[in-house]
Amino acid sequence: MPAHDIQDLLQFIDASPSPWHAVQTIVRRLQTAGFSALPEQDSWQLQPGGRYYVIRDDSSIILFVVGQQPLQRSGFRIVGAHTDSPGLRIKPNPVQDSDGLLRLGVEVYGGPILATFADRDLSLAGRLCYRSKQGQIASRLLHVDRPLLRLPNLAIHMNRKVNEEGLKLDKQKELPLLFSTAAERQLPRHRFLALLEDSTGIDAERILSWELNVYDTQKGEIWGADREFIADSQLDNLASCHAGLTALLDRDSLAADSTLVCAFFDHEEIGSVSRIGADGSFLPDILERIAVARGVGRCDLHRAMAQSFLISADMAHAYQPNFPAAYDPEHQVGVNQGPVIKINANQRYSTESLAAAQFIDCCEQAGVPFQKYSHRSDIPCGSTIGPMTAARLGMRSIDVGNPLWAMHSVRESAGVLDHDYLIRALKKFFSGG
Ligand code: ZN
Repeated sequence: MPAHDIQDLLQFIDASPSPWHAVQTIVRRLQTAGFSALPEQDSWQLQPGGRYYVIRDDSSIILFVVGQQPLQRSGFRIVGAHTDSPGLRIKPNPVQDSDGLLRLGVEVYGGPILATFADRDLSLAGRLCYRSKQGQIASRLLHVDRPLLRLPNLAIHMNRKVNEEGLKLDKQKELPLLFSTAAERQLPRHRFLALLEDSTGIDAERILSWELNVYDTQKGEIWGADREFIADSQLDNLASCHAGLTALLDRDSLAADSTLVCAFFDHEEIGSVSRIGADGSFLPDILERIAVARGVGRCDLHRAMAQSFLISADMAHAYQPNFPAAYDPEHQVGVNQGPVIKINANQRYSTESLAAAQFIDCCEQAGVPFQKYSHRSDIPCGSTIGPMTAARLGMRSIDVGNPLWAMHSVRESAGVLDHDYLIRALKKFFSGG
């Protein structure tokens, strides 16, 4: 049992309660592995074998190792994933004062299973912007590391049909999160700002703006009779970020001929169209800048792209035997049975047969099992960063990912073995397999 990698994954997620923290967690690991930061506003000098990373707006990051061979002969090998997860975000004027209780208004980010946020020990993490004592605009991360917020369920005595009809929540009226009791001596808005001040040490009057994610404070756990499963928040898709990062940091991959890249994007859960999203300019810009810094011309960059390969790593829907009707009977992918190749004829997934064959080859060389997934034909299929990234780059691409139960629940679960399998397959991919 690969206990180390699994414990490392759970620690990675627990240290990353928002996309901004996920990038911070990744950067800490890169700095101990000898990677250097490349600000986009600087000019770059890159060496073969050099290790670098670029951050755009604190929540998307591209890390790469420059290949030993010229780019036009060896191309890029890229693993893409996303740093964000669906959930709740705090509104700009959040405090609602009613009937002696203070609540925080929230906006739904992406497509979470809202009912899973009820009765959880929730808290806040994100980014805060402020005016420094010297008068400059500055930003810093904020992580309230204790239960702070709650969405108490309505008692069954007042919601008699909840077990037949499920918990339905009106997004405007029934999602605000309980935060505190109202105090006569303090205005409600000041109560919230005082909390931000306590958490950051920044005077309330200097706080200008924020992006705050609601997260579940329960730590990740290993569960099951043989400790064969994991449960945590944000497995979709921090598990894939962790697998890609771990594979890239493997010693074998650091001497590869190709230029190896991990591209981890924010904003996947809301469609990826942004300056930092997978459907934006971030990855094309950085690949071009790597080429320019290595003295590779435009024609040779296209030659490099033509022999490059992108693995879009995102979680897949594991078979849950209580709900057999939700799955195509011939495509029930099992937890702990290996990474899943996701196939969709309508290109909701970017996989085509040659890319699938190459990934199968990586799995076989790495000695890991693999599975193939196709969605039920009568249910609309979700998508990933794969198709849009492949389209922007003109690069061969595949969609793969590990089986996951309860995708977009605040607490998802998956298999211990699968995480190790995916890391091994990605190591093989990066080492030229
Ligand atoms: Zn995802």
